[in-house]
This record gives sequence, C-alpha cells and structure tokens, in this order.
Amino acid sequence: MKAIIFDLDNTLIMWKDEFISALKNVLKEMNYNFSEELITKIDESINMSEKYYPKLSKETFLEFVNHRTNLNLPILFVDKLIEAQGNLFYQDEELKNTLEYLSKKYDLYVITNWFTETQKKRLENMGILQYFQKVYGADINYYKPNPQAFAVIFEKYQPNECLSIGDSLENDVEFPISLGMHAIWKTDKKDHRYQTIKSLNELKNIL
Ligand SMILES: [Mg+2]
Repeated sequence: MKAIIFDLDNTLIMWKDEFISALKNVLKEMNYNFSEELITKIDESINMSEKYYPKLSKETFLEFVNHRTNLNLPILFVDKLIEAQGNLFYQDEELKNTLEYLSKKYDLYVITNWFTETQKKRLENMGILQYFQKVYGADINYYKPNPQAFAVIFEKYQPNECLSIGDSLENDVEFPISLGMHAIWKTDKKDHRYQTIKSLNELKNIL
C-alpha cells in the first residue's frame, strides 16, 4: 500500500455542530431571520446537488438552497458560508499524532464532497494540513461516487496500492472497493463484510 485517501467530514473532522453555527452566523450577518426549520432545510440541501451534478459549484449549491427554502439568497451567502466554515478551529492532538505516523509510511490525500477552500482551511486550522499531499474538493474534482472521483489518485498509483478511509459506506467503502482499492469503514457499527474502525487512532495499530 502506498497511498491513503481520507474522507473529511465525519472522518477527519466531525461536521454537524460547526456547520450549523457557521450557517446561523452568516444568516445573522446578512440580516436574515431564520427558524430552526429553515436551518434544517439549508442543511438538507447541502447533499442534494451531488445527486444531480458531477461536480460542486457555488451556483448549483445556491440553486438547491433557494429551491428548498423558497428564499432568494445571493451568491454572497455561499461566499460567506465558505469563509465562516473555514474560520472554525478544532483541536485533536491524538489525530495529529496518528497522521504524523501515517504520513511517514504512506502518501496521504483527502477527497471530499465539499468546497476545497473551506476544507483546506479547516485542516490548516487544526494543524494537520501539512500531512496531506493534496486536498481535492468536489469543486476541483468530482463528487464521490462519480467514476472519475479517484482518477486524480490513479494518475500516480495503482488502485490496489490505495486505501480509502471514511464514514460513508457507499462513497468511502463500496465505491472505492468497486474500483479495486482497499477500504476501511469508520463507523460504530459492526459489519463482517468490511474492515471497520471506530476512531482513526486505531490506524496506528493496523497500518
Ligand atoms: Mg464523510
């Protein structure tokens, strides 16, 4: 094995709370009144564009948000959201140690279904960006599980030299395996079909 390709949200960084707080701050800043229901609708529209488009763009994301909420939010909303999410800080010393260890043995990458700029900033804030050779968001790459999503990795490695790690059974486990890669599912569930871990810190004992 030569390369490990990590998912980001709910794999390297837990997603929910921070997204909601950033979202609320942006709406407040733009003087929009919001209810919990509206927040939920915006949250739900995040993953909608990946069902219809091969790639992410600010415009398509906004289109789904406006459609779902009946609002007419401007593109500035997306710009501000990307920025706000990128300004959130996290600490996880144990994860840092794990990535330090893994980066000495393997080339590490991130492939994520969100905006590259936000994701790189979040990794940077956490002090772990330097462990990755490259971070591919769905705006510069393709959504998982688009058949092209791992093509950028296969330019350098054979599929069986690559290990995918993530929390989505479909995107991070079944899809990479169908391409000939190895995969580890980050989950609290037990599933005898796949190798599973509850925490990334278990990787030090496996790899
Ligand atoms: Mg994920």
